[in-house]
Amino acid sequence: MNWEQLAATQPTVVKMLTNSLKKNRLAHAYLFEGGRGTGKQQTAVQLARAFFCRHSSEGEPCGECGDCRRILSGNHPDVHTIRPDGQTIKVDQIRHLKKEFSFRGMESKKKVYLVSEAEKMSASAANSILKFLEEPDGEALAVLMTSQYHRILKTIVSRSQVLSFAPLSPDRLVRQMVKEEVPEVQARVAAQLTSDIEEAKTLCSDNWIAQARTKVIQLTDEVFKRPRYAFLMLQDGWLGFFKEKNEIQTGLDLLMIWYRDVIRTQLDQQDELVFFDQEERLRDEALKTSQTKLGHNLTAILNAKRRLEANTSPQLVMEQLLLRLQEG
Ligand SMILES: [Zn+2]
Repeated sequence: MNWEQLAATQPTVVKMLTNSLKKNRLAHAYLFEGGRGTGKQQTAVQLARAFFCRHSSEGEPCGECGDCRRILSGNHPDVHTIRPDGQTIKVDQIRHLKKEFSFRGMESKKKVYLVSEAEKMSASAANSILKFLEEPDGEALAVLMTSQYHRILKTIVSRSQVLSFAPLSPDRLVRQMVKEEVPEVQARVAAQLTSDIEEAKTLCSDNWIAQARTKVIQLTDEVFKRPRYAFLMLQDGWLGFFKEKNEIQTGLDLLMIWYRDVIRTQLDQQDELVFFDQEERLRDEALKTSQTKLGHNLTAILNAKRRLEANTSPQLVMEQLLLRLQEG
């Protein structure tokens, strides 16, 4: 990866970093925050290469020298990756690093620390690493990474430059997942529910999304064609599948996506469909349902989501939602 490739997904972050590199004004500590799959790790490795490479031009590392190659393969002696040991990053892990350096002497003054899941740093570990950065006789750079910015200690935030990685667009997320062999019918749905690629892949694993999709297709079909059976489907198929509160909410999100797809079909925006393999059914429903009615359906689903959030019983919420969806 070079800066240009990284800039395709994270233009703002790349611009800030390359500007600082060109002016030779890197911060001592960066905090990269953003969802999983947004390129934090790749950007950190690229930054480490730019920091060490002696043949870089305009902030772009050469990619061929010993430093560049060893960093990419993960065995550069002065680039250290720190990951949680169990649930936390402990101060001992940092102390261990310090000791290692004092044994090796000062063969190089430059050091880089890449800290994954930085929200798991204990306060003492955080202090220890930040102190590292303030040592006068070295040049050190720390890149802390997190997908849970709200859990990062304030002392860390105040002493580092925070760079926010933009969430992946649904399109990009789908492309990435399809590349990793997730079926596109599932990827498109998952990409509507999260912008975090790991979470999206988890949703698609063990067929959960595939089954959830089928439930939505069945329920909307019953509502549309055989309203009286919809309640049976609710009892037998729906409530037994979407059990936990967050699952029920997801079920409602999927229903909403379905009715948005019906609206997209009315507007001739077929290339944006999420349930793109259901085009025929969507067209049928689009022809026989007014736009006003579809708008009411979306409102009814939003209300159901709100009531669920306020702890109304899921059964009651869903039954009343079905009645609303069936109203002419
Ligand atoms: Zn190089």
